[in-house]
Amino acid sequence: MLLFETVREMGHEQILFCHGKNPDIKAIIAIHDTTLGPAMGATRLFPYVSEEAALKDALRLSRGMTYKAACANIPAGGGKAVIIANPENKTDDLLRAYGRFVDSLNGRFITGQDVNITPHDVRTINQETKYVVGVSEKSGGPAPITSLGVFLGIKAAVEFRLQSKQLEGLKVAVQGLGNVGKNLCRHLHEHGIKLFVTDVDPVKTEEVKKLFGATVVEPDEIYALDVDIFAPCALGGIINSHTIPSLQAAIIAGAANNQLGEEQLHSQMLADKGILYCPDYVINAGGLINVYNEMIGYNEEKAFKQVNNIYDTLLAIFNIAKQQEITTNDAAKKLAEERIMSVSKSKLKEIAA
Ligand code: NAD
Repeated sequence: MLLFETVREMGHEQILFCHGKNPDIKAIIAIHDTTLGPAMGATRLFPYVSEEAALKDALRLSRGMTYKAACANIPAGGGKAVIIANPENKTDDLLRAYGRFVDSLNGRFITGQDVNITPHDVRTINQETKYVVGVSEKSGGPAPITSLGVFLGIKAAVEFRLQSKQLEGLKVAVQGLGNVGKNLCRHLHEHGIKLFVTDVDPVKTEEVKKLFGATVVEPDEIYALDVDIFAPCALGGIINSHTIPSLQAAIIAGAANNQLGEEQLHSQMLADKGILYCPDYVINAGGLINVYNEMIGYNEEKAFKQVNNIYDTLLAIFNIAKQQEITTNDAAKKLAEERIMSVSKSKLKEIAA
Protein backbone atom coordinates (compact mmCIF):
# COMPACT_ATOMS: atom_id res chain seq x y z
CA MET A 1 0.00 0.00 0.00
CA LEU A 2 1.27 3.49 -0.88
CA LEU A 3 0.74 4.91 2.58
CA PHE A 4 0.83 8.68 2.09
CA GLU A 5 -1.02 8.48 -1.22
CA THR A 6 -3.79 6.42 0.39
CA VAL A 7 -4.01 8.73 3.38
CA ARG A 8 -4.10 11.83 1.16
CA GLU A 9 -6.79 10.32 -1.03
CA MET A 10 -8.94 9.39 1.97
CA GLY A 11 -8.27 12.74 3.69
CA HIS A 12 -6.74 11.56 6.97
CA GLU A 13 -4.95 14.00 9.25
CA GLN A 14 -2.84 11.56 11.27
CA ILE A 15 -2.10 7.85 11.75
CA LEU A 16 -0.44 6.59 14.91
CA PHE A 17 1.28 3.20 14.92
CA CYS A 18 1.48 2.03 18.54
CA HIS A 19 4.00 -0.63 19.38
CA GLY A 20 5.40 -1.99 22.64
CA LYS A 21 7.41 -5.05 23.61
CA ASN A 22 6.23 -5.54 27.15
CA PRO A 23 3.37 -6.07 26.90
CA ASP A 24 3.57 -6.98 23.22
CA ILE A 25 1.12 -4.55 21.63
CA LYS A 26 0.34 -3.60 18.05
CA ALA A 27 -2.34 -0.99 17.55
CA ILE A 28 -3.23 1.65 14.97
CA ILE A 29 -5.04 4.90 15.79
CA ALA A 30 -6.37 6.70 12.71
CA ILE A 31 -7.53 10.32 12.96
CA HIS A 32 -9.49 11.28 9.88
CA ASP A 33 -10.90 14.79 10.35
CA THR A 34 -11.19 17.11 13.37
CA THR A 35 -13.00 20.05 11.72
CA LEU A 36 -16.18 19.51 13.74
CA GLY A 37 -14.42 18.54 17.01
CA PRO A 38 -12.06 15.97 18.56
CA ALA A 39 -11.87 12.67 16.67
CA MET A 40 -14.22 10.16 18.24
CA GLY A 41 -14.04 6.47 17.41
CA ALA A 42 -14.29 3.20 19.28
CA THR A 43 -11.51 0.65 19.65
CA ARG A 44 -11.77 -2.73 17.92
CA LEU A 45 -9.62 -5.70 18.94
CA PHE A 46 -9.33 -8.28 16.18
CA PRO A 47 -6.91 -10.99 14.95
CA TYR A 48 -6.42 -9.41 11.52
CA VAL A 49 -4.93 -11.67 8.85
CA SER A 50 -2.36 -8.98 8.04
CA GLU A 51 -1.17 -5.57 9.21
CA GLU A 52 -2.42 -4.11 5.93
CA ALA A 53 -5.90 -5.46 6.64
CA ALA A 54 -5.80 -3.82 10.08
CA LEU A 55 -4.67 -0.50 8.64
CA LYS A 56 -7.35 -0.59 5.93
CA ASP A 57 -9.99 -1.25 8.57
CA ALA A 58 -8.75 1.67 10.71
CA LEU A 59 -8.64 4.03 7.72
CA ARG A 60 -12.13 3.14 6.50
CA LEU A 61 -13.71 3.05 9.94
CA SER A 62 -12.26 6.43 10.95
CA ARG A 63 -13.49 8.09 7.74
CA GLY A 64 -16.89 6.54 8.41
CA MET A 65 -16.85 8.19 11.85
CA THR A 66 -16.29 11.63 10.31
CA TYR A 67 -19.31 11.18 8.06
CA LYS A 68 -21.29 9.62 10.87
CA ALA A 69 -20.73 12.53 13.28
CA ALA A 70 -21.48 15.06 10.54
CA CYS A 71 -24.72 13.32 9.47
CA ALA A 72 -25.76 12.95 13.12
CA ASN A 73 -25.05 16.65 13.74
CA ILE A 74 -22.60 15.84 16.55
CA PRO A 75 -19.71 18.29 17.10
CA ALA A 76 -17.05 15.60 16.77
CA GLY A 77 -14.54 14.45 14.20
CA GLY A 78 -13.74 10.97 12.98
CA GLY A 79 -11.21 8.51 14.37
CA LYS A 80 -10.86 4.80 15.00
CA ALA A 81 -8.39 2.46 16.67
CA VAL A 82 -7.66 -1.19 16.01
CA ILE A 83 -5.65 -3.46 18.28
CA ILE A 84 -4.17 -6.39 16.36
CA ALA A 85 -4.62 -9.31 18.75
CA ASN A 86 -6.48 -12.52 19.35
CA PRO A 87 -9.27 -11.93 21.91
CA GLU A 88 -7.85 -14.87 23.91
CA ASN A 89 -4.61 -12.92 24.39
CA LYS A 90 -6.34 -9.78 25.66
CA THR A 91 -4.97 -8.78 29.09
CA ASP A 92 -5.43 -5.80 31.37
CA ASP A 93 -1.72 -4.97 30.84
CA LEU A 94 -2.25 -4.80 27.09
CA LEU A 95 -5.33 -2.59 27.48
CA ARG A 96 -3.52 -0.27 29.89
CA ALA A 97 -0.58 0.03 27.50
CA TYR A 98 -3.06 0.93 24.77
CA GLY A 99 -4.68 3.48 27.12
CA ARG A 100 -1.32 5.22 27.51
CA PHE A 101 -1.10 5.65 23.72
CA VAL A 102 -4.59 7.18 23.68
CA ASP A 103 -3.59 9.50 26.52
CA SER A 104 -0.53 10.69 24.61
CA LEU A 105 -2.89 12.32 22.08
CA ASN A 106 -4.19 14.62 24.81
CA GLY A 107 -7.85 14.59 23.81
CA ARG A 108 -7.38 14.78 20.04
CA PHE A 109 -8.77 11.22 19.99
CA ILE A 110 -11.55 9.97 22.26
CA THR A 111 -12.35 6.27 22.21
CA GLY A 112 -14.87 3.69 23.40
CA GLN A 113 -16.11 0.13 22.93
CA ASP A 114 -16.29 -1.83 19.67
CA VAL A 115 -15.96 -5.49 18.63
CA ASN A 116 -14.17 -7.63 21.25
CA ILE A 117 -13.91 -4.76 23.75
CA THR A 118 -16.12 -5.09 26.82
CA PRO A 119 -17.30 -2.47 29.35
CA HIS A 120 -14.69 -3.94 31.74
CA ASP A 121 -12.00 -3.33 29.09
CA VAL A 122 -13.14 0.27 28.67
CA ARG A 123 -12.79 0.81 32.41
CA THR A 124 -9.29 -0.73 32.27
CA ILE A 125 -8.28 1.68 29.48
CA ASN A 126 -9.75 4.48 31.61
CA GLN A 127 -7.17 3.74 34.32
CA GLU A 128 -4.60 5.27 31.96
CA THR A 129 -6.58 7.97 30.18
CA LYS A 130 -9.64 10.11 30.70
CA TYR A 131 -10.20 10.24 26.92
CA VAL A 132 -12.50 7.26 26.86
CA VAL A 133 -16.30 7.20 26.78
CA GLY A 134 -18.86 4.62 27.82
CA VAL A 135 -17.17 4.19 31.22
CA SER A 136 -19.96 5.34 33.46
CA GLU A 137 -22.64 3.51 31.45
CA LYS A 138 -25.22 6.02 32.63
CA SER A 139 -27.24 4.97 29.63
CA GLY A 140 -26.70 1.20 29.89
CA GLY A 141 -24.11 1.08 27.09
CA PRO A 142 -24.39 2.07 23.42
CA ALA A 143 -26.05 -1.04 21.97
CA PRO A 144 -29.68 -0.33 23.01
CA ILE A 145 -29.66 3.15 21.48
CA THR A 146 -27.80 1.91 18.37
CA SER A 147 -30.40 -0.77 17.81
CA LEU A 148 -33.19 1.78 18.29
CA GLY A 149 -31.52 3.95 15.62
CA VAL A 150 -31.39 0.98 13.24
CA PHE A 151 -35.04 0.23 13.93
CA LEU A 152 -35.99 3.85 13.14
CA GLY A 153 -33.89 3.62 9.98
CA ILE A 154 -35.81 0.51 8.96
CA LYS A 155 -39.06 2.44 9.45
CA ALA A 156 -37.81 5.27 7.21
CA ALA A 157 -36.62 2.82 4.54
CA VAL A 158 -39.92 0.92 4.56
CA GLU A 159 -41.81 4.20 4.18
CA PHE A 160 -39.61 5.31 1.26
CA ARG A 161 -39.02 2.05 -0.59
CA LEU A 162 -42.17 0.09 0.17
CA GLN A 163 -44.41 3.18 0.41
CA SER A 164 -45.90 1.91 3.65
CA LYS A 165 -45.92 2.76 7.35
CA GLN A 166 -46.97 -0.78 8.18
CA LEU A 167 -44.23 -3.01 9.65
CA GLU A 168 -46.35 -5.92 10.79
CA GLY A 169 -45.93 -9.00 8.62
CA LEU A 170 -42.65 -7.87 7.04
CA LYS A 171 -39.74 -10.33 6.97
CA VAL A 172 -36.29 -9.29 8.18
CA ALA A 173 -33.03 -11.27 8.02
CA VAL A 174 -30.63 -10.33 10.83
CA GLN A 175 -26.95 -11.30 10.50
CA GLY A 176 -25.18 -11.26 13.89
CA LEU A 177 -26.94 -11.49 17.24
CA GLY A 178 -24.47 -9.65 19.46
CA ASN A 179 -25.11 -6.55 21.53
CA VAL A 180 -26.90 -4.71 18.72
CA GLY A 181 -28.42 -7.56 16.69
CA LYS A 182 -30.26 -9.08 19.64
CA ASN A 183 -31.71 -5.72 20.73
CA LEU A 184 -32.78 -5.02 17.16
CA CYS A 185 -34.58 -8.37 17.06
CA ARG A 186 -36.53 -7.30 20.15
CA HIS A 187 -37.76 -4.07 18.48
CA LEU A 188 -38.67 -5.92 15.29
CA HIS A 189 -40.45 -8.71 17.14
CA GLU A 190 -42.46 -6.17 19.15
CA HIS A 191 -43.71 -4.71 15.85
CA GLY A 192 -44.89 -8.02 14.46
CA ILE A 193 -41.97 -8.59 12.11
CA LYS A 194 -41.04 -12.15 11.18
CA LEU A 195 -37.37 -12.79 11.97
CA PHE A 196 -34.77 -14.91 10.17
CA VAL A 197 -31.45 -14.90 12.00
CA THR A 198 -27.94 -16.22 11.92
CA ASP A 199 -24.79 -16.10 14.03
CA VAL A 200 -21.60 -18.14 14.19
CA ASP A 201 -22.38 -18.67 17.88
CA PRO A 202 -25.18 -21.30 18.29
CA VAL A 203 -25.90 -20.16 21.87
CA LYS A 204 -26.97 -16.76 20.51
CA THR A 205 -29.19 -18.14 17.73
CA GLU A 206 -30.86 -20.51 20.20
CA GLU A 207 -31.60 -17.62 22.58
CA VAL A 208 -33.16 -15.43 19.87
CA LYS A 209 -35.17 -18.38 18.57
CA LYS A 210 -36.59 -18.91 22.07
CA LEU A 211 -37.18 -15.22 22.86
CA PHE A 212 -38.62 -14.01 19.56
CA GLY A 213 -39.65 -17.12 17.63
CA ALA A 214 -36.97 -16.44 15.02
CA THR A 215 -36.15 -18.91 12.25
CA VAL A 216 -32.45 -19.80 12.44
CA VAL A 217 -30.42 -20.26 9.25
CA GLU A 218 -26.77 -21.10 8.55
CA PRO A 219 -24.42 -18.06 8.20
CA ASP A 220 -24.04 -18.43 4.43
CA GLU A 221 -27.81 -18.85 3.89
CA ILE A 222 -28.74 -15.42 5.24
CA TYR A 223 -28.08 -13.47 2.00
CA ALA A 224 -30.41 -15.28 -0.38
CA LEU A 225 -33.49 -15.39 1.84
CA ASP A 226 -36.77 -14.15 0.41
CA VAL A 227 -37.18 -11.28 2.88
CA ASP A 228 -38.07 -7.58 2.72
CA ILE A 229 -35.08 -6.33 4.68
CA PHE A 230 -31.54 -7.56 5.27
CA ALA A 231 -29.99 -6.23 8.50
CA PRO A 232 -26.23 -6.86 8.71
CA CYS A 233 -25.20 -6.61 12.39
CA ALA A 234 -21.94 -8.59 12.46
CA LEU A 235 -18.82 -7.51 10.58
CA GLY A 236 -18.05 -5.34 7.52
CA GLY A 237 -17.48 -6.13 3.83
CA ILE A 238 -20.45 -8.48 3.53
CA ILE A 239 -22.17 -6.56 0.69
CA ASN A 240 -19.95 -7.48 -2.24
CA SER A 241 -19.89 -8.87 -5.79
CA HIS A 242 -20.33 -12.37 -4.40
CA THR A 243 -23.37 -11.65 -2.17
CA ILE A 244 -25.25 -8.94 -4.13
CA PRO A 245 -26.45 -11.27 -6.94
CA SER A 246 -28.14 -13.53 -4.38
CA LEU A 247 -29.82 -10.76 -2.35
CA GLN A 248 -33.61 -10.72 -2.57
CA ALA A 249 -34.34 -8.03 0.04
CA ALA A 250 -35.62 -4.63 -1.13
CA ILE A 251 -33.81 -2.84 1.71
CA ILE A 252 -30.45 -3.17 3.45
CA ALA A 253 -30.55 -1.61 6.91
CA GLY A 254 -28.19 -2.79 9.63
CA ALA A 255 -25.69 -1.73 12.28
CA ALA A 256 -22.43 -3.20 10.98
CA ASN A 257 -19.75 -0.70 10.04
CA ASN A 258 -18.35 -0.68 6.48
CA GLN A 259 -20.92 -3.06 5.03
CA LEU A 260 -19.92 -2.41 1.42
CA GLY A 261 -16.91 -4.35 0.16
CA GLU A 262 -16.07 -1.54 -2.28
CA GLU A 263 -18.10 1.57 -1.65
CA GLN A 264 -18.58 2.94 -5.17
CA LEU A 265 -18.92 -0.35 -6.99
CA HIS A 266 -21.22 -2.08 -4.55
CA SER A 267 -23.47 0.89 -3.70
CA GLN A 268 -24.01 1.28 -7.47
CA MET A 269 -24.71 -2.45 -7.88
CA LEU A 270 -27.34 -2.22 -5.14
CA ALA A 271 -28.95 0.85 -6.74
CA ASP A 272 -28.99 -0.90 -10.13
CA LYS A 273 -30.77 -3.83 -8.54
CA GLY A 274 -33.36 -1.52 -6.97
CA ILE A 275 -32.19 -2.27 -3.43
CA LEU A 276 -32.41 0.69 -1.06
CA TYR A 277 -29.19 0.84 0.97
CA CYS A 278 -29.24 2.72 4.29
CA PRO A 279 -25.66 4.04 4.61
CA ASP A 280 -24.18 2.27 7.63
CA TYR A 281 -22.66 5.33 9.28
CA VAL A 282 -26.02 7.11 9.22
CA ILE A 283 -28.23 4.30 10.47
CA ASN A 284 -25.80 3.12 13.19
CA ALA A 285 -25.07 6.59 14.61
CA GLY A 286 -27.03 5.81 17.79
CA GLY A 287 -23.89 4.54 19.52
CA LEU A 288 -22.02 7.75 18.81
CA ILE A 289 -24.98 9.88 19.87
CA ASN A 290 -25.13 7.90 23.10
CA VAL A 291 -21.45 8.16 24.02
CA TYR A 292 -21.35 11.83 23.04
CA ASN A 293 -24.23 12.50 25.40
CA GLU A 294 -22.50 10.57 28.18
CA MET A 295 -19.43 12.71 27.63
CA ILE A 296 -21.32 16.01 27.96
CA GLY A 297 -23.49 14.80 30.90
CA TYR A 298 -26.08 12.20 30.07
CA ASN A 299 -29.61 13.39 29.51
CA GLU A 300 -31.78 10.54 28.30
CA GLU A 301 -34.42 12.78 26.73
CA LYS A 302 -31.82 14.70 24.73
CA ALA A 303 -30.04 11.53 23.60
CA PHE A 304 -33.26 9.86 22.42
CA LYS A 305 -34.36 13.05 20.63
CA GLN A 306 -31.09 13.03 18.69
CA VAL A 307 -31.54 9.35 17.79
CA ASN A 308 -34.97 10.14 16.40
CA ASN A 309 -33.18 12.38 13.88
CA ILE A 310 -31.83 9.26 12.17
CA TYR A 311 -35.29 8.72 10.70
CA ASP A 312 -35.45 12.23 9.19
CA THR A 313 -31.80 12.24 8.07
CA LEU A 314 -32.28 8.97 6.19
CA LEU A 315 -35.43 10.21 4.48
CA ALA A 316 -33.49 13.35 3.45
CA ILE A 317 -30.66 11.17 2.07
CA PHE A 318 -33.08 8.93 0.14
CA ASN A 319 -34.66 12.02 -1.42
CA ILE A 320 -31.27 13.58 -2.37
CA ALA A 321 -30.31 10.27 -4.00
CA LYS A 322 -33.57 10.12 -5.93
CA GLN A 323 -33.51 13.75 -7.06
CA GLN A 324 -29.83 13.79 -8.07
CA GLU A 325 -29.85 10.22 -9.42
CA ILE A 326 -26.93 9.19 -7.23
CA THR A 327 -26.50 6.32 -4.79
CA THR A 328 -27.65 6.72 -1.19
CA ASN A 329 -24.01 6.28 -0.21
CA ASP A 330 -22.98 9.30 -2.28
CA ALA A 331 -26.00 11.27 -1.05
CA ALA A 332 -24.98 10.70 2.59
CA LYS A 333 -21.41 11.77 1.86
CA LYS A 334 -22.71 14.91 0.17
CA LEU A 335 -24.78 15.78 3.20
CA ALA A 336 -21.82 15.15 5.56
CA GLU A 337 -19.28 17.03 3.42
CA GLU A 338 -21.60 20.03 3.11
CA ARG A 339 -21.95 20.19 6.90
CA ILE A 340 -18.16 19.90 7.41
CA MET A 341 -17.49 22.51 4.72
CA SER A 342 -19.90 25.01 6.25
CA VAL A 343 -18.19 24.68 9.69
CA SER A 344 -14.78 24.95 8.06
CA LYS A 345 -15.84 28.14 6.26
CA SER A 346 -17.23 29.73 9.40
CA LYS A 347 -14.01 28.85 11.28
CA LEU A 348 -11.97 30.55 8.54
CA LYS A 349 -14.25 33.61 8.77
CA GLU A 350 -13.67 33.71 12.55
CA ILE A 351 -9.88 33.60 12.04
CA ALA A 352 -10.06 36.34 9.39
CA ALA A 353 -12.26 38.60 11.57
P1 NAD B 1 -20.87 -7.93 18.88
O1 NAD B 1 -19.45 -8.36 18.85
O2 NAD B 1 -21.58 -7.88 20.18
O3 NAD B 1 -21.74 -8.86 17.90
C1 NAD B 1 -21.31 -9.31 16.67
C2 NAD B 1 -22.00 -10.65 16.45
O4 NAD B 1 -21.74 -11.08 15.12
C3 NAD B 1 -21.49 -11.75 17.37
O5 NAD B 1 -22.59 -12.39 17.99
C4 NAD B 1 -20.73 -12.69 16.44
O6 NAD B 1 -20.77 -14.04 16.87
C5 NAD B 1 -21.49 -12.49 15.14
N1 NAD B 1 -20.76 -12.85 13.93
C6 NAD B 1 -19.45 -12.72 13.66
N2 NAD B 1 -19.17 -13.18 12.41
C7 NAD B 1 -20.35 -13.62 11.90
C8 NAD B 1 -20.74 -14.18 10.66
N3 NAD B 1 -19.86 -14.42 9.70
N4 NAD B 1 -22.04 -14.51 10.47
C9 NAD B 1 -22.96 -14.28 11.45
N5 NAD B 1 -22.64 -13.75 12.65
C10 NAD B 1 -21.36 -13.41 12.87
O7 NAD B 1 -20.92 -6.51 18.15
P2 NAD B 1 -22.10 -5.42 18.24
O8 NAD B 1 -21.77 -4.45 19.29
O9 NAD B 1 -23.41 -6.08 18.25
O10 NAD B 1 -21.88 -4.66 16.84
C11 NAD B 1 -22.25 -5.28 15.64
C12 NAD B 1 -21.78 -4.43 14.47
O11 NAD B 1 -22.35 -3.12 14.58
C13 NAD B 1 -20.27 -4.21 14.39
O12 NAD B 1 -19.89 -4.11 13.03
C14 NAD B 1 -20.07 -2.88 15.07
O13 NAD B 1 -18.91 -2.22 14.62
C15 NAD B 1 -21.32 -2.14 14.62
N6 NAD B 1 -21.73 -1.07 15.53
C16 NAD B 1 -21.98 -1.33 16.84
C17 NAD B 1 -22.38 -0.28 17.68
C18 NAD B 1 -22.72 -0.52 19.14
O14 NAD B 1 -23.36 0.34 19.74
N7 NAD B 1 -22.33 -1.64 19.72
C19 NAD B 1 -22.51 1.00 17.17
C20 NAD B 1 -22.27 1.23 15.83
C21 NAD B 1 -21.86 0.18 15.01
